Amino acid sequence: MCANSNNGNLHEVLNSCAWCQKKIHLEDECYEVGARVVQGYDLSKKQGSTINIALVRSQRVVSAIVPMTGSQAARNSDISFMLCSMECGLALKEALNKENAIIDRVNN
Ligand SMILES: [Zn+2]
Repeated sequence: MCANSNNGNLHEVLNSCAWCQKKIHLEDECYEVGARVVQGYDLSKKQGSTINIALVRSQRVVSAIVPMTGSQAARNSDISFMLCSMECGLALKEALNKENAIIDRVNN
């Protein structure tokens, strides 16, 4: 079961896969991928909310969650993605790793 799945305005994003857009049912297992963005990529107004990131090289837009500063999640990641499966997680990681204008580092 998704850890953060009851989180108010993040509901929509948390309930669909960032990569394939498939609905993630709350009772299903889901996967989370976290990443650090490059310095200067301003997320300060987006904390506790979501952003759409255009992955130019993959020609895809993905939705990411921006955790609040000081939260547990923010310690490891600037942004995180909810995914329906390990396969989508791997595909997303591969895509993020090509976007070095935006993504500094993808967490494992
Ligand atoms: Zn998926």
